[in-house]
Amino acid sequence: MTLTPLELTRPASVTDAFLAQLVARVPGSSGATWKLTEVYTGDVLVELPQSAPEDIERAFAVAREAQLKWAATPLKDRLAVFKRAHALFVDRARAIADLIQVESGKNRRMAIEETCDPPMVMSHYLKRAARLLAPTRRGGPVPLLTTSTEIRQPKGVVGIIAPWNFPFATGVSDAVPALMAGNAVVLKPDNKTALSPLYGVRLLEEAGLPEGLFQVVCGEGPDVGPTLIDHADYVMFTGSTATGRVIGERAGRNLIGCCLELGGKNPMILLEDASLEEAVQGAVFGAFGNTGQICMHIERIYLPESRYEEFKTAFVAAASALDFRAAYDFGPDMGSLVSVDHMRRVKSHVDDAVAKGATVLCGGKPRPDLGPAFFEPTVLEGVTTDMLCGVTETFGPVVALHRYRTVDEAVALANNTDYGLNASVWSTDVAAARAVAARIESGNVNVNDILATAYAAKGTPSGGVKNSGVGARHGDQGLLKYTDVKNLAVLKKQVMGPRPGQGYEKYVESMLSGLKLMRKLRIR
Ligand code: NAD
Repeated sequence: MTLTPLELTRPASVTDAFLAQLVARVPGSSGATWKLTEVYTGDVLVELPQSAPEDIERAFAVAREAQLKWAATPLKDRLAVFKRAHALFVDRARAIADLIQVESGKNRRMAIEETCDPPMVMSHYLKRAARLLAPTRRGGPVPLLTTSTEIRQPKGVVGIIAPWNFPFATGVSDAVPALMAGNAVVLKPDNKTALSPLYGVRLLEEAGLPEGLFQVVCGEGPDVGPTLIDHADYVMFTGSTATGRVIGERAGRNLIGCCLELGGKNPMILLEDASLEEAVQGAVFGAFGNTGQICMHIERIYLPESRYEEFKTAFVAAASALDFRAAYDFGPDMGSLVSVDHMRRVKSHVDDAVAKGATVLCGGKPRPDLGPAFFEPTVLEGVTTDMLCGVTETFGPVVALHRYRTVDEAVALANNTDYGLNASVWSTDVAAARAVAARIESGNVNVNDILATAYAAKGTPSGGVKNSGVGARHGDQGLLKYTDVKNLAVLKKQVMGPRPGQGYEKYVESMLSGLKLMRKLRIR
């Protein structure tokens, strides 16, 4: 079967005129463009302008000017924009999902879920921002006579570099707390998936975000990245570990802060007493949700010897029964990979594993009959650490089953990785699962779930350890990282140092006994 436009009708909202309007805000003085394609068909959707260094410099200059006014706007007025935006984003969820689908090729169920992320982030920080940004007055070194106040100030202009796998969520959600805190934003989305974040910016402006405050520049990473980082006051990056190192090095040289949300090689551990039905359902989502292109998804499943065959049979049956194809309705369980290049990378991991002795239990092949970048849901066994997919992130619908004999061995295998982004532990005994979770080296661990419980808990920081990242999004630090602290200290009367006529010995004696007294009274 090959796809024809007759069989696959592009969503009605995705018109040429609409796309042209969306990309018109991207500066591209050189006239260079990038052909942004519909993933399911490979058809060109729009010519995306590519931003030259001068365009990026100008975008920062405009953003910087807008930021001064925005930072001086009362917080309640800034937050009012996001109250309106929340409603607007929910109302337009279907149109947003249309754009996410055409540019990423993911299935509609994932696309609509993705649209919910920015409203959830807005909702959380609408409750929390006023408290986080309020000055906090603390005592100073001398009781009653001194105060020290922690004042939160916006960094200035935040550069955000976003990947293609959740382009709308990573492009918009990470900007929300930065903007609430009084910053401007310059976003560089991935070329392949610039449309949905561009629409997000437009919706924020419809909700009242001042024009100029949120700039979008486009281009290949190595072309745009250096100028962007050199002009930013802080960088928020989501993407691969390899690129994260490049971004972190440059930010370090410039002495600016950065948050790096990187890749994973995430394990799932079943304990002896886990529910088969729930674990299989979880594993299907964990391995094949978003076509395996979720940073927190599962690529390694560890099973006790006693449950291996039972799980393998049920899981392979479930994977083989998945409905994966190109469609703009809620039918398919799984969509396409994002591009032919990425499909080839996923295929190379499977081919390498097979060449080195792994067994394909189901899937394992590209499906050009369904669309240019489709790849079958694939389950492997016999994967070892000398295989590419045994150690590095595949980022596709490919998962390996492994046996373990003891829980200690399962924990050791799960931790035997350079990554530490997410893990999932399954058991009907929650206390036992929590005990295992505590031993996993990972920024997120979900008990009886794959990732949503951790990721949707917007009040708790979510980030990676080891090679999976630096810093976190969500939680208090997800907003505070976009601020600098000013310590405003006041001494009401000069009492520091020896009194007139007091010898230094006497002064030191009184100072030391004062220290002891304050400790005793628990003042300092
Ligand atoms: P990538 O690192 O190739 O690209 C990410 C972004 O960085 C893109 O916009 C790209 O154009 C840009 N970029 C590339 N090289 C650059 C450079 N030298 N300077 C500046 N920018 C540059 O990653 P990808 O393939 O787009 O995304 C998939 C990866 O992202 C996976 O590893 C996945 O695990 C990770 N990811 C992590 C999270 C998280 O929260 N931890 C979330 C989503 C995706």
